[in-house]
Amino acid sequence: MENTKIEKSEEEWKKILTPEEFLVLRKKGTEPAFTGKYVHNKEKGTYVCAGCGNLLFSSETKFDSGSGWPSFSAPVAPDAVSLKSDRSLFMKRTEVLCARCKGHLGHVFDDGPKPTGQRFCMNSVSLRFMKKE
Ligand code: FE
Repeated sequence: MENTKIEKSEEEWKKILTPEEFLVLRKKGTEPAFTGKYVHNKEKGTYVCAGCGNLLFSSETKFDSGSGWPSFSAPVAPDAVSLKSDRSLFMKRTEVLCARCKGHLGHVFDDGPKPTGQRFCMNSVSLRFMKKE
């Protein structure tokens, strides 16, 4: 995995991301539930950051949470993502960011399946699926 951090200006991100990707990754937006293209994806492969290509999740930890967003019980490696306390919208949540480009991916909750007990609730827009050949 590449550990080089990526820093770009808002204008630079606007040039390389779609409007939807920009809104979620750089403006911390949330795609509407059950609209994302990976909610029901059950194919084997890996999920990388749509902003920078950083390897984030494996299909092996994906589970059907019923939430309407693609959900994972763990990232591929602890340092693939970074976590940040988020007190917006009158809730106390933990934001999940790509560790490499600091793009917003979603939030993590502690009601996931064993053994981790974690539910990484991600936006499809923030991810790109790489099918295992
Ligand atoms: Fe990234």
